[in-house]
Amino acid sequence: MESRQEMPRQEPGKRIKNFKEVASGYTEEQALKEASRCIQCKKPTCKAGCPVEIEIPEFIKAIAEKDFAKAIEIIKQKNSLPAVCGRVCPQESQCEKVCALSKKYGSVAIGRLERFVADLQISNSINVSRPTNVGGQAPCQSVKVDKTKDDARCTMLRRLLSWALGPRA
Ligand code: SF4
Repeated sequence: MESRQEMPRQEPGKRIKNFKEVASGYTEEQALKEASRCIQCKKPTCKAGCPVEIEIPEFIKAIAEKDFAKAIEIIKQKNSLPAVCGRVCPQESQCEKVCALSKKYGSVAIGRLERFVADLQISNSINVSRPTNVGGQAPCQSVKVDKTKDDARCTMLRRLLSWALGPRA
């Protein structure tokens, strides 16, 4: 079993001189390697650990097959903001915590893969159909889509801030 792909990061000497993200995201090669680690469990515990129950094995399989448009489409059926959630969701205590590989080999880096494909969509303008139904309780869940104005309106900030900053937010 290939080991979990590390996230590329700026060296401290560089990052003190700019305001770019410290973690720069997977390269395509890394994403393909990481996606190939998923064993496509018949009863995917990762999905049960996701607050919005993203079809995690399916989107990872699409990445492994280099079908990135399909991957982002699968994610967006349940989550309108994968670039955000790929960065701020606490995957280590949700989907990745219950990944079948977590104890023996290290969980599949689900969040990093989500971020990879979301960033790819942003940079390459992969076309996907607009999600129609998103809702729930955790930070990634509390997003509602205003169909009347054909505009995704986020009502997640309060929950997100609450999660990030604690009960004072
Ligand atoms: S539990 Fe882990 S190995 Fe199994 S399908 Fe989910 S991500 Fe893949």
